[in-house]
Amino acid sequence: SEIILSVRDLKKYFPIKAGVLQKTVGHVKAVDGVSFDIVKGETLGIVGESGCGKSTTGRAIIRLFEKTGGDVYFNGKEVHSLNHKELRAIRPKMQMIFQDPYSSLNPRMTVGQIVGEALLDHGIITDKVELRKKVMKTIEECGLASYHIDRYPHEFSGGQRQRIGIARALALDPDFIIADEPVSALDVSIQAQIINLLMDLQKERGFTYLFISHDLSVVEHISTRVGVMYLGSMVELANKKDMYKNPLHPYTQALLSAAPVPDPTAERKRIILTGDIPSPANPPSGCKFHTRCPYAMPICKTDIPEFKDRGNKHFVACHLLDKNN
Ligand code: SF4
Ligand code: MG
Repeated sequence: SEIILSVRDLKKYFPIKAGVLQKTVGHVKAVDGVSFDIVKGETLGIVGESGCGKSTTGRAIIRLFEKTGGDVYFNGKEVHSLNHKELRAIRPKMQMIFQDPYSSLNPRMTVGQIVGEALLDHGIITDKVELRKKVMKTIEECGLASYHIDRYPHEFSGGQRQRIGIARALALDPDFIIADEPVSALDVSIQAQIINLLMDLQKERGFTYLFISHDLSVVEHISTRVGVMYLGSMVELANKKDMYKNPLHPYTQALLSAAPVPDPTAERKRIILTGDIPSPANPPSGCKFHTRCPYAMPICKTDIPEFKDRGNKHFVACHLLDKNN
């Protein structure tokens, strides 16, 4: 299996500024040393509560944000080391689908302009007739009739707008797509249609996805592997079945405890999450989850647990799984 993306110890800190001089007084450690690989053709889901750094991870990967530390290798090239020209050359291959189909589309542009813009911009297609054909074909692939090409975003429903957002990413023939909460703004009845569209497109075109969501059931549906993030760190990463049937990190167990169980007879360890998520500007020492973890031990406050393979590529960062504790 071929690795398309390697993330190594990725960090993204945002400065906290204060006072008239806007001096930096601290940092929000939005992403604080995250590592994982994505294999060509798979879907890696990333879940976690809002503010855990999953969106920032996605944006730092495709360099919508400059990283603070670590490396991101896309097809073997470190994305943050590329110069402007080199970055521009690989941009079409890494595309993003955004959460809000209402604000992510320019209301003054037609569907044709929205979907065709980047093709023109990158000089991939310059002929107007050819561009129109390509846009029509692409929106049809996304389940929108080609005659919609001259309409404006406000003329469409939320689900249709997200199809336009997907078509915009698709037009560039990407290899890798980051979908950041792509269905969270949509009615539940529409969510499945969009998820199925993404899965069908993956089957036809062999896309690799990084799928970011706070919704465990959506992630379970679409992903091959799942990573769980908490306060800027990845705490567990496993194939979907292992993650949902046998979660090993107490935080994952808590998230799954809170989710509705499709089979009520299935046994599941129930952990109730208490307390608020601490501020990423001032995260707890040791294991960042220790302030909310029912199993916290003295070592958890002092030592950062190592993110380790516990067998079958099931990675977990928790002292409970280390032999001497
Ligand atoms: Fe809980 Fe300690 Fe494991 Fe963190 S390392 S999840 S505090 S048991
Ligand atoms: Mg987000």
